[in-house]
Amino acid sequence: MSLLAVHDLNKRFSSKNGDTHALKDIDLTVEKGEFITIIGPSGCGKSTLLKIIAGLDIDTTGSVLIDGEEVAGPSIDKGFIFQEPRLFPWHTVEKNIAANFSLKNKDVKKQVGELIKLVKLDGFAKSYPRELSGGMAQRAAIARALLRNPKVLLLDEPFGALDAFTRTHMQDALLNIWQENKTTMLFVTHDLDEAIYLGNRVVIMNARPGSIQRIVDVNLPY
Ligand code: ADP
Ligand code: ADP
Repeated sequence: MSLLAVHDLNKRFSSKNGDTHALKDIDLTVEKGEFITIIGPSGCGKSTLLKIIAGLDIDTTGSVLIDGEEVAGPSIDKGFIFQEPRLFPWHTVEKNIAANFSLKNKDVKKQVGELIKLVKLDGFAKSYPRELSGGMAQRAAIARALLRNPKVLLLDEPFGALDAFTRTHMQDALLNIWQENKTTMLFVTHDLDEAIYLGNRVVIMNARPGSIQRIVDVNLPY
């Protein structure tokens, strides 16, 4: 069974100024362990698609199945990474990663420690978000999502706000995480280089707004 199966998905937004058919007859299948990038120009519906898969928007027609189960709302098996890290400034890095789990629990503490290593924030467990660079903060957000052991990590232009150098560094960090953790990744970007570098399949959304034009398999360089 595919990890994710989107079938005949349609999404319309209605407003006083008329209807936007943001997603049109979307079909997309993702296997466990894949790294999928979704590329397309601004406004083509990438974020809308990701939010629907995350269960953040269920006012749609068509079906979205994760492990054969209809997505009915947000849940911990669907990790979501936004463009900004959205850490709590008054909590330390380790507390941000643990979030609503208690660090007094030995298993949680151990897992948080392992994730801090995985995202290469060793030595920063007790730091506060203001003491981190943008890339470091985004890695903390990724660790927070991974603590829940999500079936899929949904990333909405997560490196868009970073400078070019940090961005390259983060792309490699994410590839490492993917290879070590085997988490299925769904990564939205409008940067073609980034899409091709990261994805083992690149989904292209284009021209006719809200529809998938093509799905391209990329040969992995590793
Ligand atoms: P992308 O992520 O590719 O830039 P979006 O998914 O954000 O595109 O938007 C797709 C289309 O849906 C755009 O035309 C956008 O204006 C419209 N849209 C997105 N969110 C809303 C909303 N909450 N209300 C009305 N229209 C929206
Ligand atoms: P990244 O690309 O991971 O954001 P940077 O290029 O910003 O990393 O920083 C590289 C390294 O420098 C970090 O991994 C960290 O060890 C250290 N560093 C960066 N910013 C800070 C900071 N504000 N306080 C302490 N150490 C920092």
